[in-house]
Amino acid sequence: MRYLSTRGEAPARRFTEILLEGLASDGGLYVPESFPTMELSRLRTRSYPELAHAILSHFMDDVPDLTGIVGRTYTPANFGSGEITPLKTLEPGLHLLALSNGPTLAFKDIAMQLLGNLFEEILKKKNQTLNILGATSGDTGSAAEHAMRGKQRINVFMLSPHGRMSAFQRAQMYSLQEPNIHNLALKGAFDDCQDVVKKVNADAAFKARYRIGAVNSINWARIAAQVVYYFKGYFAATKSDAQSVSFAVPSGNFGNIYAGYVARSMGLPVHKLILASNENDVLDEFFRTGRYRVRKSALATSSPSMDISKASNFERYVFDLLGRDSSRVGKLFSSSDEFDLSKFPRTGFASGRSFHADRISTIKSIHDKYGVTIDPHTADGVTVGLAHREPGVPLVCLETALPAKFAETIREALGQAPARPAGFENLEQLPQRFEVIEPDDEAVKRYIAAHAS
Ligand SMILES: *Cc1c(COP(=O)(O)O)cnc(C)c1O
Repeated sequence: MRYLSTRGEAPARRFTEILLEGLASDGGLYVPESFPTMELSRLRTRSYPELAHAILSHFMDDVPDLTGIVGRTYTPANFGSGEITPLKTLEPGLHLLALSNGPTLAFKDIAMQLLGNLFEEILKKKNQTLNILGATSGDTGSAAEHAMRGKQRINVFMLSPHGRMSAFQRAQMYSLQEPNIHNLALKGAFDDCQDVVKKVNADAAFKARYRIGAVNSINWARIAAQVVYYFKGYFAATKSDAQSVSFAVPSGNFGNIYAGYVARSMGLPVHKLILASNENDVLDEFFRTGRYRVRKSALATSSPSMDISKASNFERYVFDLLGRDSSRVGKLFSSSDEFDLSKFPRTGFASGRSFHADRISTIKSIHDKYGVTIDPHTADGVTVGLAHREPGVPLVCLETALPAKFAETIREALGQAPARPAGFENLEQLPQRFEVIEPDDEAVKRYIAAHAS
């Protein structure tokens, strides 16, 4: 499989060449030159690791021992059960696909755990080291650190906004004691963290000298890993390959739902991909009107992992929407934060918004009706999913985090704190390791230079 840049000005590459990079050299995102077609009848009865291998071997065809990597990643020890992503049925035709039973209790573990094992294997083969630099507002950083902890040849430098994450999220990151994990608590907001990452990456000499890598959601390996659970959820929710289902997806950077679009492009019978935005509604606006308008900044909400003003994976979808016309994509995304594509049919999508009051009332109604507690992000997906539910079409709502991560909002909805999974009871009492740092790229570079391998 070869990968092309959405902007058409970078050379085509193989998977192991794009794995360690962020953007293509022309500023575009890498996409596969074509989507393979999967034969459903041969996949229905496969285990999660078998299904993952069948799908990923098309995208990662130059990875040695992919079978071993997938087998080490998708284990009951890592994800709580052999199902990996079990389907919970609320009532006939209405399901939750549980994606949050990995080490950090959010769906990002599914891709990040695979990424950790892919990095380890490829770095060993190339005899290289990698220093991962990232910024997080919560879920991404902890998923990345838990995937990379203790891995040889890899250091993680994760910038987080000092004093602005929840106590639970802070403890999930800062309690890691492995020497290859470096938590930098930056005196500023999440946007300041991202600015510093951009500035460090803009210094090409520094980037090359210290082999700075990225794990953000534009990494193609993360998208490919997420395609697998759409197939898994489809098979669990249907009895025959003649049926189609709809998926409701709480969205921020358009990574999760784009993986659903890829699954459909590979032949999965998906009726609608139902996109849910929170108060930050740039994607909902696009799917309703065809107009894309990047916001100046994101509002802070009670579904914080969807608080984005510019959806970084969106360019991949637009590339297909415009018939893979890369010069047109390049013009749109390099020159403007606002454009109108209302002439192009956005087939197979529905969308809507869910605000704080919707989230609270959905958490309560799902709890009262089915005895199940869902997290605020999942609640956004369920709110919008139910509004678009169609008779005769099973609706699968993606559960993107466990409620234990967002206790404050659950208490507001239900008057009681959510249950904590085993092993997390005393998380906040564990000793923490982090370095407070100024919001300054030179200070971060000095820290990396002193601690890089
Ligand atoms: C990251 C995240 C999302 C948003 O996913 P995207 O791929 O950015 O659209 C939704 N819910 C939770 C809990 C997340 O961590």
